[in-house]
Amino acid sequence: MTDQPPIDSLGCASGSARMEAAARASGNAEMLDAFARDYPQGPHDKPQSMCPAFGSLRVGLRMRRVATVLSGSACCVYGLSFVSHFYGARRSVGYVPFNSETLVTGKLFEDIRAAVHQLADPARYDAIVVTNLCVPTASGVPLKLLPKEIDGVRIVGIDVPGFGVPTHAEAKDVLAGAMLRYARTEIEAGPVQAPAIGKADRPTVALLGEMFPADPMMIGAMLAPMGLAVGPAVPTREWRELYAALDCGVAAAIHPFYTAAIREFQAAGRAIVGSAPVGHDGTAAWLAAIGDAFGLPSRHVAAAQTAFLPAIRAALSATPITGTITLSGYEGSELLVARLLIESGARVPYVGTACASTPWSAADRDWLVAKGVKVVFRASLEDDLAAMEAVRPDLAIGTTPVVQRAKELGLPALYFTNLISARPLMGPAGAGSLAEVVNAAIDNRDRMDRMRAFFGGVGSGDTAGVWEGEPNLMPEFRAQNLKKLEKKARAAKAEEMI
Ligand code: SF4
Repeated sequence: MTDQPPIDSLGCASGSARMEAAARASGNAEMLDAFARDYPQGPHDKPQSMCPAFGSLRVGLRMRRVATVLSGSACCVYGLSFVSHFYGARRSVGYVPFNSETLVTGKLFEDIRAAVHQLADPARYDAIVVTNLCVPTASGVPLKLLPKEIDGVRIVGIDVPGFGVPTHAEAKDVLAGAMLRYARTEIEAGPVQAPAIGKADRPTVALLGEMFPADPMMIGAMLAPMGLAVGPAVPTREWRELYAALDCGVAAAIHPFYTAAIREFQAAGRAIVGSAPVGHDGTAAWLAAIGDAFGLPSRHVAAAQTAFLPAIRAALSATPITGTITLSGYEGSELLVARLLIESGARVPYVGTACASTPWSAADRDWLVAKGVKVVFRASLEDDLAAMEAVRPDLAIGTTPVVQRAKELGLPALYFTNLISARPLMGPAGAGSLAEVVNAAIDNRDRMDRMRAFFGGVGSGDTAGVWEGEPNLMPEFRAQNLKKLEKKARAAKAEEMI
């Protein structure tokens, strides 16, 4: 007899070890091992940012003629659909609910199959993406048994459990990789649709990563003197762009965590180039690497470098950044932003990224380390906070909890996701783009001090607020609760060891 809660009542705040064990026992061991290779974990084994599945959900919601169906606990789906609409999804998020009975009897899978059959209207959709969240993945709901297509509508089933995919960035790769694999098999089977804008007349460089809309255009302009054109950016905005992306000469891993997508490009025989054309040094090295990958004569590379590097240098020196900045985020582009900040004149002693190290981030890491930067991959929130508290920078760029802590300390801070990764970074357009927002924030220090003084004396933690008397602390309840939590943690540990 066990008093353990049923699997369908678990979530990312509890029982990830149990869910992983259940997923392995229900036939998903191979998939979890593949995730562990693609997205190695540690030091923390739980998502410290939003639910990872948000990444793949958003990729699907941004694609034209693609429907999205989630299968998971109602609270997870509520949170995910809320966040997706908060970020401007103008699409419905489909949901196949379940209960303990439909989960264990296999009826949930039947319900998902019925839902995709009902949705699969070729007049409306090119593809339907079905995503198993944590509980259906742990229970082994077999999305691979769904039909591959219904009336010409492709069915793409993916598992995106928080106990296998550590960040929402890497979840984007799970869906991008699955779609590229599907498109690659279609190409191998016969002719496929041409891109909406026609086939490029020059060899192309496909881009990996969600970028500011002007960045691919800027990259295209820099490739032109080399006789090359920019290809689609993956994740793509429509299905047929997947074919055009795979048709590239070289895939540029602008965001280096797209390991599953890169595997598909490599399977299609495409060379991969890491890093990105950011700042002077980054652009010079990236153009040279692209030239090498295509086997171009060095004069073609020199033509592109001569056309753009002076403008980049001029933009960097016209908009200098002075000050010390710590930087952390979970978008996967943190190292590129740090390069740009340093070339703009900032001192950046620490960069933390929630993503793992890959061969495609090595050049950026080496460049940063040579400049004296401490680079931490798979950084935990604790790493980011410790670095910020030790350095006491003029500006902390980070995730919500980092920014919140910085404000408590009276340090100017900027959200990486909303304010930094939503700007152009590439080539001459990126060279001066961070200075305005960063310098304005650094200059705000006085305001932070005034804010701190204003809120001073309102307490902190569980005594925050305005109290009429002394806060009622009840330390004995706290001690009792702590004991309960320790007991629970010991029981969970013992269970892991069984
Ligand atoms: S699906 Fe997301 S929100 Fe739900 S338990 Fe898993 S990681 Fe947490």
